[in-house]
Amino acid sequence: MVNEERAIKFLQDLIQIESVNPPGNELGVAEAIAGHVKNPGLSCEIKPFSENRANMIVRLEGKDSSRPPLIFNGHLDTVPIGDNLWEHPPFSGNMVDGKIYGRGACDMKGGVAALIEAMICLKEAGEELEHDVIFIGTAGEEVDCVGAKMMVEEDILKKAGAMVIAEPSNGRVFTAHKGVLWLEIKLFGKTAHASMPDQGINAIIHMSELIERLKKFTFYAEEHGLLGKPSLTVSTIEGGVKTNVVPDQCRITLDIRTVPGMKHEKIIHQISELLEELKAEIKNFQPELNVLNNLPALENMKNDSFVRLCLEVNQELYNMKPEEKGANYYTDASIFFPQLKLPTVIYGPGNEKLAHQPNEYVEVKKYIQAIEYYVELARRYSS
Ligand SMILES: [Zn+2]
Repeated sequence: MVNEERAIKFLQDLIQIESVNPPGNELGVAEAIAGHVKNPGLSCEIKPFSENRANMIVRLEGKDSSRPPLIFNGHLDTVPIGDNLWEHPPFSGNMVDGKIYGRGACDMKGGVAALIEAMICLKEAGEELEHDVIFIGTAGEEVDCVGAKMMVEEDILKKAGAMVIAEPSNGRVFTAHKGVLWLEIKLFGKTAHASMPDQGINAIIHMSELIERLKKFTFYAEEHGLLGKPSLTVSTIEGGVKTNVVPDQCRITLDIRTVPGMKHEKIIHQISELLEELKAEIKNFQPELNVLNNLPALENMKNDSFVRLCLEVNQELYNMKPEEKGANYYTDASIFFPQLKLPTVIYGPGNEKLAHQPNEYVEVKKYIQAIEYYVELARRYSS
């Protein structure tokens, strides 16, 4: 009952609309989706919020709209194409050997197209579900989740029953993901001619002390059953002006990945304390700490009935072991989950290892299977 030809063309169309973030340009993707759902008769609302940027809502009405709807979610932006050469042009949507190529094919226009196609399938089949199925398309997930931060205030979400996010999971059911905390630490010193280093304060040397301590940083957290351990990576460093000048500034950024249950405030506090210690030990150690991104981890309740249903459907349709898995990446659930407390599952056709890579693709077979999966899930979901 999936119209494969139409589904493939639709995904190719979405890939061909550039929505690289920054700046985003999600409006074009939202308009293409709106055009696609018009004929089958799904109602649709685009919510622009700045130039060329928008969130959107697509609704498949059931018999009783007062019941908690099932929410489908996907982001409309992609990451940049990177510096590597692509074998298939990144905005082509080329189909070769059963794979559709292009930026976003895997993360996550493949997932978005599959959710929308599933809603169209249900509409065309003419069977009315008891409840509404609502697609929430968000802008900005790849940078700061700006779209999700706006959409979480929508009344429609406040009465929702469960959420499926179509981020790449390679056809497995992800029920947890890590959180992310990005920190910036700047150290300030004093410039001097490098022939007289005693006259200056070397911010790079101070930073090397800090990095040594960060290498030994310990998290107060148990290892998580699905997600393993938290991690801390010193991911960028900048400093110095010239070979013959004592550097008066050095800046690093940290990428910290957390597991459910960890309080990010506590980690920030631990880092501040470490800076205070160094301040006490090292003369003229002048730090500044800034939080750049702070998104909590996702974890569902134990034995949740919606999670069980998601696993069951995957077993029945594709003979997949009913096993919950976890993702290392974060999603819009970091915004939705803490506020809405909905059972939230990640299930998408892309292979998460291909996300953000050159020559990103989605397998056509997996894409069609995802559509069938969402159709079955929507049918069996009851609120
Ligand atoms: Zn994504």
